[in-house]
Amino acid sequence: MQRDAGDGADRRRQPDECSGADLEVAVKPVGEGAGGGGYPDRRERRSRRAPAVEADESDQERHDDDSAAHAEERAEDTGDEADREQAGHSSYRMAVGSDALLGALVENPSEAAIMLDVDGTLAPIVARPELARVPDETRAELRRLVARYALVACISGRTGADARRIVGVEGPVYVGVHGLELAPEAERWRGPLREFAESVDWPVEDKGLAVVFHYRGATDEEAALEMLRGVANRATALGLQAQFGRKVLEVRPPVAADKGTAVRVLLEQRQLRRALYAGDDTTDLDAFRGLDGLDVSVRIAVASAEGPPELREAADIVVESPAELVELLRRL
Ligand SMILES: [Mg+2]
Repeated sequence: MQRDAGDGADRRRQPDECSGADLEVAVKPVGEGAGGGGYPDRRERRSRRAPAVEADESDQERHDDDSAAHAEERAEDTGDEADREQAGHSSYRMAVGSDALLGALVENPSEAAIMLDVDGTLAPIVARPELARVPDETRAELRRLVARYALVACISGRTGADARRIVGVEGPVYVGVHGLELAPEAERWRGPLREFAESVDWPVEDKGLAVVFHYRGATDEEAALEMLRGVANRATALGLQAQFGRKVLEVRPPVAADKGTAVRVLLEQRQLRRALYAGDDTTDLDAFRGLDGLDVSVRIAVASAEGPPELREAADIVVESPAELVELLRRL
């Protein structure tokens, strides 16, 4: 049976698909998003997108019950006239655009944060998530960034400990289980979650602050899904949250935490108002929203056929693979 140890880690993409990209087109600031601070229409674009993000069970890995609140709280970003004009120009040089975006971070690294998803972003997706690994050249780049920036953080669907193992670099802050590890009120649910998992006659992935039941590859997936629907109902009756994703049922504490809340906690702890976030999947949209209202924000989508189209749409810069992301990180 396939185990999904991290967000999006169950996708059937081979690692070598991430390595042959044409780096000349690696960095593509998205037209209306290019400019660093966002634009007056960002809120409008996002509110249009919201239903699509929540609709599809097969593509939605986690439901974040405070996503709507994020949309309401979102501060208007500011962007100067020149940026707005550039954003509308189809002839605008893409490489120049990304330089301008990244420049505000590069110039003041002691005031900026670099925050990164792990699976599909730093580590190429592999068929068996437990074998995922961050390439040596990426590790070297992370070490350089740790020495240079106020904060480097890895925010993952894995546990923080597992993310640290996969990334293999000391220095970044590791936040696991989609931000739940940075939510103090989640801690008291550790015991009840374990007890609940033990009461279910089905293999479980225990992430401490969440337990995940996978049914991809089950002999009878329909029957497995039906059984897990019963499990979900029982979890809900106990006050836990149950959410179906891509061939998984995840049960977690009833705590409003996601990658966006983690991003905000990390930045507020350090009083940082400039940040970059890179990710490849649905839960990374929360992290993108966590950057709203900052002085400088750069949202990078690591695009893939399996990734959500909304991520590309919400991004300031799109790269096509983890290998292309490393090329971009070298410019920071
Ligand atoms: Mg990912």
